[in-house]
Amino acid sequence: MLVGAGPGEAGLITVAGAQWLSLADTVVYDRLVNPALLKLCREDAELINVGKGGPECSVTQEEVTRLLVENCRKNRLVVRLKGGDPLIFGRGGEEAEALEAAGIPFRIVPGVTAGAGAAAYAGIPLTDRRYASTVAFVTGHEDAAKAASSINWPALAGIDTVVFYMGVANLPAIAERLMGAGRPGTTPAAVVERGTTARQRTVVGTLATLAGDAAKAGIRPPALVIVGGVVLLRERLAWFDRLPLFGRTVLVTRTRRQASELAARFGEMGAEVIEAPTISVQPPESFEPVDAALRGLKEFDWLVLTSPNGVDAVFERMRAIGLDARALGAVRVAAVGPATAAALDRRSVRADLVPQEATTEALGRALLAGESLGRKRVLLARADLATPQLADALTKAGAAVEEVAVYRTVRPPALAPEAIEALRGGRVDWITFTSSSTVENFLALTAGLGADLEEVRLGTIGPVTAATLESHGLTPTVVAATHTIEGLVDAVVSYEMKVGPRGGRT
Ligand code: SAH
Repeated sequence: MLVGAGPGEAGLITVAGAQWLSLADTVVYDRLVNPALLKLCREDAELINVGKGGPECSVTQEEVTRLLVENCRKNRLVVRLKGGDPLIFGRGGEEAEALEAAGIPFRIVPGVTAGAGAAAYAGIPLTDRRYASTVAFVTGHEDAAKAASSINWPALAGIDTVVFYMGVANLPAIAERLMGAGRPGTTPAAVVERGTTARQRTVVGTLATLAGDAAKAGIRPPALVIVGGVVLLRERLAWFDRLPLFGRTVLVTRTRRQASELAARFGEMGAEVIEAPTISVQPPESFEPVDAALRGLKEFDWLVLTSPNGVDAVFERMRAIGLDARALGAVRVAAVGPATAAALDRRSVRADLVPQEATTEALGRALLAGESLGRKRVLLARADLATPQLADALTKAGAAVEEVAVYRTVRPPALAPEAIEALRGGRVDWITFTSSSTVENFLALTAGLGADLEEVRLGTIGPVTAATLESHGLTPTVVAATHTIEGLVDAVVSYEMKVGPRGGRT
């Protein structure tokens, strides 16, 4: 099974490609494949990287085909995942031939080739009724200076839009050749680096100037060269570059499980998101008190949940001990905020109470504001390190409060390597904090790392998290007005729109 992974941005794989990937026993992938796509694979799938560290030290083509044939013969479902489209400058044809020769049936799932992907994200239509009726995809890999070029340069000079793959190193020679064949030096030309990804960079010039312009900007592979009048349309169509957080790098410190929503939203705004989980959610030390409470759930008047993690932990444990949603009976359910309420909603439970402001103080006030809590039985299902205020306030109001730790939050041993690298390189524009423990853990994990946070903007989800930051001598750049993921993203976007990019950023 040859599958095109698309040009970079993970979402640009096809639906069929994603489906096959999720079924595969073995996945053989290249350097250009976005690692995020590997998350679609089964947990027990065998992942084989055949493109480590660049073309020089990558696995030979013979070894790749041998791997494919061998694994297919073991009756494994093998996905050969290739960047872009497998049949465009990807040697997919040769690999398919090898499978055919070995008598192994195969399928080919096309992908969005880098030429199409990077052009779309750079705002350059490769054809246009007014300016370009023909387009050519050309390999720029071959030594353009060599006499016996397999490229028909005179013919190429007559094509309206010419797209060069693998052309960065040979850019000066490519431009010379094309001009030598009659294409005017004034023809608009662009180079698009890391197209479709949050780190996309585009340099526009003319055929005569592009090699110098690209070198000056330090353009490196993977990059595409696009030559033709259509390049000028970019002036009006550069939609990606105009996203509010384009070019910004955001470090997200939530648990891995929750980071994806933040990452998706920041990604939609054009930012590069680096996940740096500072909290890992673990089962409680003991399930005994949890199980007892869940088995007697009907006896309670209120079930109070203070995080989406708490909701998941409660329902997953219910399932594990053979209970289902009916265990809730007529118990009323309170959620600290919209995210917790949404987690409940996913379990088909509508929260009876959600305070206006998503803090445990507000939750306590809202509970107290209702009917008397005297003699009411309240189950507080929370994390192990929860603060005592909520339980105290409810107890004072006469409630019989039972508090159980349904999950534990622990600090992972280290920060993700990508995060460390980005911090050290001064590449991080924003760090987002969604709870006090993300602040505490982040600072503990980065102590002694030599990362300078002075220049970095800090986004917090609410006043409590902001106060924790301040207690460490750091000033939050923004505090979300609504204490939700959307609120946090909104706050960051508004700030960027108002103030512009961080100073000293290259
Ligand atoms: N089969 C792939 C191409 C592999 S050749 C496809 O269909 O896209 C590798 C070349 O593709 C790189 O040298 C570069 O020129 C181009 N390329 C791949 N990903 C790219 C990206 N995200 N942005 C710009 N060019 C890219």
